[in-house]
Formats: sequence, C-alpha cells, structure tokens
Amino acid sequence: MAAQDSVEHKYVYDFAEGNKDLKDLLGGKGANLAEMTNLGLPVPPGFTITTEACKAYLATGREPDGLAAQIEAHLESLEREMGRKLGDPQDPLLVSVRSGAKFSMPGMMETVLNVGLNDRSVVGLSAQAGGNDRFAWDSYRRLIQMFGKTVCEVPGEEFEHALDDAKRAKGTQNDLDLDADDLRGLVDAYKKIFAKHTGREFPQEPREQLDLAIRAVFESWNAERAVVYRRQERIPADLGTAVNVVAMVFGNLGADSGTGVAFTRDPGSGAQGIYGDYLANAQGEDVVAGIRNTVPLQELEQLDKKSYDELLDYMARLEEHYKDLCDIEFTIERGKLWMLQTRVGKRTAAAAFVIAGQLVDEGLIDLDEALHRVNGAQLAQLMFPRFQLDHEFQPVAKGIGASPGAASGKVVFTSARAVELAAEGESVILVRRETNPDDLNGMIAAKGILTSRGGKTSHAAVVARGMGKTCVSGADELDVNVPAKKFTVAGQTVNEGDVVSIDGTTGKVYLGEVPVMPSEVVQYFEGELNPEQADDALVKAVHRIMTHADEKRRLRVRTNADTGADAARARRFGAQGIGLCRTEHMFLGDRRELVERLILASTDEEREAALAALLPLQREDFIDIFREMDGLPVTVRLIDPPLHEFLPPLEQLAVNVAVAQERGEDVAKEEALLAAVRRMHEENPMLGLRGVRLGLVIPGLFAMQVRAIAEAAVEVTRSGGSACPEIMVPLVGAVQELETVRAEAEKIIAEVVGDSGVEVLIGTMIEVPRAALTAGQIAEAAQFFSFGTNDLTQMGWGFSRDDVEGAFFWRYLELGIFGISPFESIDREGVGRLVRIAAEEGRAARPGLKLGVCGEHGGDPDSVHFFHEVGLDYVSCSPFRVPVARLEAGRAAITTTGSDSR
Ligand code: ADP
Ligand code: MG
Ligand code: MG
Repeated sequence: MAAQDSVEHKYVYDFAEGNKDLKDLLGGKGANLAEMTNLGLPVPPGFTITTEACKAYLATGREPDGLAAQIEAHLESLEREMGRKLGDPQDPLLVSVRSGAKFSMPGMMETVLNVGLNDRSVVGLSAQAGGNDRFAWDSYRRLIQMFGKTVCEVPGEEFEHALDDAKRAKGTQNDLDLDADDLRGLVDAYKKIFAKHTGREFPQEPREQLDLAIRAVFESWNAERAVVYRRQERIPADLGTAVNVVAMVFGNLGADSGTGVAFTRDPGSGAQGIYGDYLANAQGEDVVAGIRNTVPLQELEQLDKKSYDELLDYMARLEEHYKDLCDIEFTIERGKLWMLQTRVGKRTAAAAFVIAGQLVDEGLIDLDEALHRVNGAQLAQLMFPRFQLDHEFQPVAKGIGASPGAASGKVVFTSARAVELAAEGESVILVRRETNPDDLNGMIAAKGILTSRGGKTSHAAVVARGMGKTCVSGADELDVNVPAKKFTVAGQTVNEGDVVSIDGTTGKVYLGEVPVMPSEVVQYFEGELNPEQADDALVKAVHRIMTHADEKRRLRVRTNADTGADAARARRFGAQGIGLCRTEHMFLGDRRELVERLILASTDEEREAALAALLPLQREDFIDIFREMDGLPVTVRLIDPPLHEFLPPLEQLAVNVAVAQERGEDVAKEEALLAAVRRMHEENPMLGLRGVRLGLVIPGLFAMQVRAIAEAAVEVTRSGGSACPEIMVPLVGAVQELETVRAEAEKIIAEVVGDSGVEVLIGTMIEVPRAALTAGQIAEAAQFFSFGTNDLTQMGWGFSRDDVEGAFFWRYLELGIFGISPFESIDREGVGRLVRIAAEEGRAARPGLKLGVCGEHGGDPDSVHFFHEVGLDYVSCSPFRVPVARLEAGRAAITTTGSDSR
C-alpha cells in the first residue's frame, strides 16, 4: 500500500497542506482557504480536489484512478476532526461543495451547500441545533434547490415559484416568516419538482450526493456560459477547476447568526474604511442574491461587537499579508465568526491607482510593485470623459462595456436613419439587437452603439473599438424591436428620437441625457491640476506612479502629430518628439487646387510651378511643428497616399462635366480632371502608386518636401530654436528605392543647410514585408527605421483593414483564430517576427541604428511590452495614448516574470 501511495498522483490536499501560491493546482479559492488556515484564521476545515483531477476527468469522462480513495481518506479525517459523520442521522456533518478555478469567474461555477442532509439527518440537524426545526428544514430545502439546479439541471425558476407560492399562502413577502411546517411542505414540493425533471427521487445517500456534486463542478468547467466568459476574458480553456469540500457553518441559525461580505478598502474609489454588507439569519448566497435588504457592515458592531472586532482584526491581517485590497466572505454562527473566502479583490481603474499609492505610503509595497499593479488599460479608462452621476440618474440596463467612453444621443434603429440625423448635426445612438456589416455607415455616423446581444468580440464591439467609438453590447434587458422603431427596458418604452446615454466603460445604459464631465486625469496631464496641491487622491497617485514609470522606462515615447496644436498637446502629455508627422493633410483644403495642377501638369514648367506654390505652404507647416517640438526629434513622412485620393470622386466629376456641358459651359478643366481620375484609377490603391513609388515617378515631388523640411529647420534654428528633423521615406521594399530618394535628398539638404548646424537624418518606414526581410541591406542606406505596423499587419496578413474589420473579424474572434484583432495588438508570432528580424538584421548591418514604431500599436499596452522586448528605442502613438505608452514602457522595464495580474 505504501509503495503504491508513493507513485500515486496526489489529487486531494487538506487546507493545511496548501498555500496561496498554489493557484494553478488548487484554484484561487482553495489556495486562499489554505493560506488563511495556515495564518491561523478560523476557516472551517476541509480539503481541495485539484484542477488536475478535473482535467483528467474531463479528458476521460471518469474520475482518475485513486481519486475516490483519496477523497474517502480526507473525508474520514474531516469527520474525525469534526467529531461527526457525513449525513449521520443523529448528528450529521454537512459540507459545501465549491468550485474554484485559478482565475475568479464570477457566477460561472456553482456551489452546493448543506450536502449530507436527507429525510433522516434533517431531524438530527434540528436536534443538534437545540430543536431548531425551522433551521433544519430551511437548510434541507436549500440543498434540494441548489443540488437540483446545479447538479441535475432542474430549471431554477421552478424552485423560485414554489417558494413564492409558499410565501403567498402565508401572506408574506419575507422568507423569515415561513415556519418549520411551511418549510417542510416546501421540501415536499421541491422533491416533486426534482423527481419530475430528473425522473428519479432526490438522492438520500450522503456520499452519492457528494460524488455527484463534485462531478457536477468538474463538468461546469465546460458549461456554455463558462466557455463564453473565458473566451471574453481570454482565460485559457484548459486550466480546469478545483473543487473545495468544506465543513458547513450556519448563518441561518437565528438572529445571532448571519453572513456577509467585506472589503478592506472601497473597491470603487480605493478609499480606506470599512466596506461590506451583512445579513442576519441567512445563508451563503442570500447576501448577494438580494432576497432581503442587507445592512452596512458597520452595523455589525451593534449586533455582535465581538465578532465585528475580530473581523476587523482579520481584515487588517489579511491586507498586511497579501499587501493588497482583499475581499472576504464570512459567516457568523451563533456568535462565532468563520472566514469562508478571501482573495485579492477586483477594483475600478481609479481604485487601482489610489490603492497602489496608499500601499506605498503605508510601506507595504515599493514603487516598482505599485507600477506593476496598475496598467495602461486602466489609465486609458481614466482619460475618458465620464458621466456625472451624482443625482437622479439610475441605469435602466447593464450590458458589456465593449468600447469605452460616454455618449448621449437620440435613439435610431437603422443605419440609414443614423446617417440622416447625423447629417443634420444630431448626436445619435444606434440601437440594434446586433450589428452586421450593413450597419457600418450608421456606426460611423453614430456617437455610440448599443446592442442587446453579443459580447466583447461581437461585430458591434470589434468595429466600435476599431473606430474608437463608445459601445455597450449585450444589454440583454433591452427588448429591441427594429421594425416598430422602439425598444423596451425595465417596463419603459423608448422610441426613435428619445435620448439615451451609454457608458462604454461600465456597460450601463441611462434614459435621458446624462451630463458629461472631463477627466481629472486629463486635466492633470494638461497641466491644469497641480498634483502637489490637488486634494484628489487619484491625481496624486497617477502623478506618483507616472513619475516612477518615467524613471524606469528604457523606451522613449513620441507622438503621431500633424499639426502644431497636436504636437503641443502631446508634449504636455509627455511626448519626447514626433514619431510620425504625416504630410498629406497639407495637401487638403484650399491646397487641393495646387495638387490638381500638379496632377494635370502637361509640361515640366507647369509641374514645377505647382510644386513651387506648394513649397512655402509646406515650409510654414513644418516651422509650426518644429517650434512646438523645440529640441526634440520630429520624423516627417514624405507623402504616402496615392495622389488621386486628392481629386474629387469619379461620379461627382462625371456629373459636373455632364451638367456643365448641358449648360454649354467651358468644361476643359473638368474633362481633364475626369480623364486623370479615370487614368489613375486603381483596383487596389493600397498596393498601388503610393509612398516611395510616387516620389520616384513624379519628378520634384519629394524634392519639394525635402526642401521645405530643411528650410523650415534652418529657419527655426536661425531664430534661436533647435529643430531636429528626420525625413522618413514610406513604403520602401528595396534598398535601391531608398538610395535613389536619398541621393537626391542629400544634395538638397547640403545646399539648404549650409553652415546652419542643422542635422537632418534620412531613414525609412519598415512596413512592407520585403523591407523587413531585407533590412540588413536597407540599413546601409537608412539612419533610422520606423516600423509602420498598420501596413505591416495589412500586408503581412493580406488584410485590407477597412474591408476585414467589418466583414469577418467577429467570426475570426469567435473561432479563436485570433484572441484579439491584430490591428489592436501586435501579432507577436507573425508580424512581430518581421519586426524582430528587421530590428536584428538592421542593427547588425548598422550598429546603433535608431528604431521606432509609429503604427497604432505604439499605444497598445501589450504591444508596448513587445517593442520593449525587441529592443526598439521608442514608440510613437496618438497624443491621448502617450501617457498609456509611458506607463506601459515603465511596466515593461520592471516586469518580473510569472505575474498574473488578473
Ligand atoms: P462563489 O464562488 O460564487 O462565491 P462560494 O463557493 O464562495 O461561491 O459559495 C457561495 C456562498 O456559500 C458564499 O456566500 C459562501 O460564503 C457560502 N459558503 C460556502 N461554503 C460554506 C460553508 N462551508 N459554510 C457556510 N457557508 C458557505
Ligand atoms: Mg464566494
Ligand atoms: Mg503605411
């Protein structure tokens, strides 16, 4: 036997054997129950069946060898410790069977309380409780209810209805008014329901109850809503759940008993204090289920001072031990406090920063740890304007916060109506059951999108995030009736044109227009709030943690900005230069006419005249930007989009020509334009005449831009500033392309710069896969690389972003082909590999080659970590993302391995 034991796999751990670091094996709940046990806190005794046992069961459809015997052995020792036997008719031991995976999955897995009760032991339980029949029958009816629902899939409403019937017969709303006889009657009713749905009697054998409950917990890992939740939260599907078997303690023994939840700090704001709810004479779930009104935890002091003081003492010890906000479940059985669960508690974004700051003040953690405990997604959340909810507004529904922000507007139900009203200047919220690719125009026109179905990866959610538009998805309390142009929620009808407000961060939906207030975190970044003076705990904490992130990070953070105003704001937000200044906006507005002249030029003189007219305009643009970024590098990208994008659309031109001809007007120019548009039409403009290709085909175009940049730099420097331009050639795929542009550019620069002291770098974007793969050659001709990861993703995957996001990304996400859109977060294995190759081979050819990234990934938290790992010098992102990138670059620099901050 001993020899066999030594090779046998250990599937069951007593609470005294585990600890908080064994979450993989014991699940979060089990690991923390063990930790509390070992800290000497009063945890009812019990044991944990490992996630490995669950995985083995799910793989084979039966309990692994040895599991039954190990459960038996642990049950026996539990019985010895408690001095009772499971389900003993005279003096029964009862247990709870509780699921608990590595990551908390609220409401996903079920718990069965009072296992071990049957027709005989219910009498023993009553005797044990001093003849408290009411308590015993209440416990029994709860067992049948939970067991029926969880283990045997009996519809829960049936039990609820029977309970309602019993209360109605008694003429009461309160479950406490049901006496022992009523509850005995209810047990009979429940048993009938059980038999009707399962075709068998409620199992009377305690050990069978236990085994079936354990098995049901295993199986619940693959229940549909657990699968959906995991997919949504990106929790791996193969972790399995542990099962905890815990001796029951009873909060439903009378007025001196009860059950509650507590937080060591306010999980909403992070404020210190005592937060929680308590419910006397109740069991388990009752607190959160809202069957009766709970009282604030503080009131426990009056009800039971001894337990209250003890609880506060344990809360302090747990915080000290976990060095973080803990949330706690407890039960008081006749004046004796029992701890039933703890974990590091979930919190809002604001609370995450505030608590991290407080814990540093209290000396519990250092600044590195504080930085590790917050993240860019939370910071980004805090930078959105928020609804001002201090007064009358109550949400009417809550869906999934699919794309953050706060939006109010008139309800519309069709894409066409959204476009119509938006064109009249109205703010609209597009409400649908779910969206599909036909809704795209409406989604673009709307302020926000609200759907009654679908999760974080639904079409609405994916597209909204891609557009940076507020979206609440899956608000399933909404009954949306598109043909009737209305929806109903909470008994109210909302018609087209009525105003609603949606919060894409919390998922809450409000009727009417909720006032919006600016983010104080943005005010701080703007320099409008002084963190030393602000009596705002959040601003102080953000300031402190950001300062630390800046000290720690190796990556520099630049911004993408095309105007002086954007550059100025980004600089206030901490940008250390511009990583991408697009020049194409400088060809729009009243300058279009010059572009038309350029395109239509039939002689060198005409073309040169058009370019000469553009030159001073471009120069002024650059002067503006160089001034704002005084002393910091500015990467200017030469014109990238195909020139026909600057001409009017074909249809419009054709109509103009037709109309003018009709009227007998002179149409020579329109006809020429029309011909040009026809000639320049491209099947795949994304892969057509753009970027460096344009520069090589249209004489003088790049030269004009290079001259404007150099002249602007010289002028700024001569007037006492310091301009550091970096000229970036887009869409290079072969070193020869770059060399040709460079040779011409260097001549112009030498001529313009003279002895002004201005230095102009010339480099290239790496955005075509071939460029990444020939980076060693390209580096010979480039002083820097900037990864254009948007195009690199498009061309790496062969995706046209505008087409794919609406058309099929939702399906790819649903199928798990990607966990997140590769445009949102860099695809490390594929596109990331191209970046890695180019970085390594580029630096091998030219040591010290400056490397940066200027796609949208530069502001995505996970991607920032990747760029840190690959060794880039900087990331560049939109102004609002600059603080996020600073924070994440700091976190990347301190990140230790093996953290799972979920
Ligand atoms: P969840 O993960 O949904 O919180 P739990 O396993 O924690 O599920 O259990 C549900 C409720 O039952 C909780 O309120 C818990 O405190 C209570 N509970 C669990 N086990 C026991 C027990 N042995 N004695 C008394 N109450 C228990
Ligand atoms: Mg719990
Ligand atoms: Mg590009």
